[in-house]
Amino acid sequence: MTKTFDIAVISGDGIGPEITTATINVLKILSDKYSFSLRFKEIFSGDRALKETGYALPSNAIKEIKKSSCCLKAPIGETAKDVVLPLRQELNLFANIRPAKTISGIPSIHSGVDLVIVRENTEGLYKKIDDRTKECAINVRMITKEATERIMMVACEMAKERRKKLTIVHKANVMKSCEFFRDVCLEVAKKFSEIDINEMYVDNAAYQLVINPQQFDTLVTSNMFGDILSDEAAGVTGSLGVLPSANLGHDIAMFEPVHGAAFDIAGEGIANPTAILLSCAMMLNWLGDKYSIDEAKQAAKDLENSVLKTYEETNIRTPDLGGKNTTNDFIKEISSRL
Ligand code: ATP
Repeated sequence: MTKTFDIAVISGDGIGPEITTATINVLKILSDKYSFSLRFKEIFSGDRALKETGYALPSNAIKEIKKSSCCLKAPIGETAKDVVLPLRQELNLFANIRPAKTISGIPSIHSGVDLVIVRENTEGLYKKIDDRTKECAINVRMITKEATERIMMVACEMAKERRKKLTIVHKANVMKSCEFFRDVCLEVAKKFSEIDINEMYVDNAAYQLVINPQQFDTLVTSNMFGDILSDEAAGVTGSLGVLPSANLGHDIAMFEPVHGAAFDIAGEGIANPTAILLSCAMMLNWLGDKYSIDEAKQAAKDLENSVLKTYEETNIRTPDLGGKNTTNDFIKEISSRL
């Protein structure tokens, strides 16, 4: 029997709706080609939703996503903190996986980079334990043993499947919470003797990412450090427009491009859809693993290859990569390759 995956879709703001529509058309081609089907359900969220309904995140959003196979999310604008943070926290999407890889055909300041940032997604400085008065403001940086252990487990499992090298990024010489993060990570690391584990202060990691990113394989870090380092990794490998990500929980996942709503180019039809397409490849791979559907994993590979080959074999480039092509030019090429 054909497996049907229900995909909760948040098409977001800015360039979100245009890249989401284009991407859903590509996903439809894949589901026609392979023996699974996809059903899409929009969860109207973000700036437009706030304006039209009074709510940035509808009250049934969490329930609807839990009922679905997974969620595909485009970027949200000004209301991101009211949508993304509750989704990550209430769905317990504790692991944010952000691969950054140089793509042949995309100009970048380094070649041969292939790393993944495993970012803790539910606490740290983004926990929203905060306050402000007229004279001062505070954010509490909470790091728990439970959240650190589970993110380190994910990072170790990932490193094991990759080049078996894991860097723990922290600032333990200054912050107690980082010292705790580092110590818990090192305790978990004892179970993974086959992995080469090292640690690095976050400021040095930021520097090393620019001067010698090839040294990294898997990096594990806390919430805000991961947020910053992954945008930096995007800059090192090419463009924010090409980096995908996955937010993983125990039984649920949400896939989204790393970039934001890019209001400066919204509506012009020139957004680069690569990041959301590669996020869909991660999504199909995850669905294939979770439901043991090999065809979904093949579709993921097919989609990823089409994107990579488009860069390798054509000159189709959106303006963020110095080209003159439109989102639709890129999507047409991907579709014809599929
Ligand atoms: P956020 O804080 O929500 O992540 P941001 O402030 O980092 O957002 P973005 O919206 O990601 O900012 O945009 C940063 C720059 O990158 C902008 O100039 C934008 O046009 C460009 N950009 C981001 N995504 C894309 C894309 N998919 N295609 C082309 N350009 C993009």
